[in-house]
Amino acid sequence: MVQRLTLRRRLSYNTRSNKRRIVRTPGGRLVYQYVKKNKTVPRCGQCKEKLKGITPSRPSERPRLSKRHKTVSRTYGGVLCHGCLRERIVRAFLIEEQKIVKALKSQREALVKPVKAPKPKVEPKKKPVSKTTKPGAGGKGAGKSAGGKGPGVGGKKPGQKPTGGAGKPRK
Ligand SMILES: [Zn+2]
Repeated sequence: MVQRLTLRRRLSYNTRSNKRRIVRTPGGRLVYQYVKKNKTVPRCGQCKEKLKGITPSRPSERPRLSKRHKTVSRTYGGVLCHGCLRERIVRAFLIEEQKIVKALKSQREALVKPVKAPKPKVEPKKKPVSKTTKPGAGGKGAGKSAGGKGPGVGGKKPGQKPTGGAGKPRK
């Protein structure tokens, strides 16, 4: 006949937190071993993919874990996956570039309209600007060429990414 087992805790209902396994001890006895709930890994907030580099854990044990188990050292690390973050940064960057291009375009139009004669004089000075404005409709081309020419613009980029990246999807 099968050996009878006794619970080791007072909770006697078969609840989710009271799952047990039967284990044979070195002494040959059968005892219950309590099974913990499944640990999980956080998922990307956008594409729902499991995040890499994060230790699976229960919510109750997370406060006891050190930071390196719960996050990766990147902006939005432990919240977004690298791919989604990259997309957001690039998108925010291109939007900012488009704004700059628009501003420059309107400036140029304001300059060109009142005086038509010095128009050829203005153009050679702002050659890189005229190049960026033309593929501005394409978007990507404008962003790339503009980003390459200006170190000042490139420096802005990291500062802009949290606001631009986070701000847009919320809308
Ligand atoms: Zn993602």
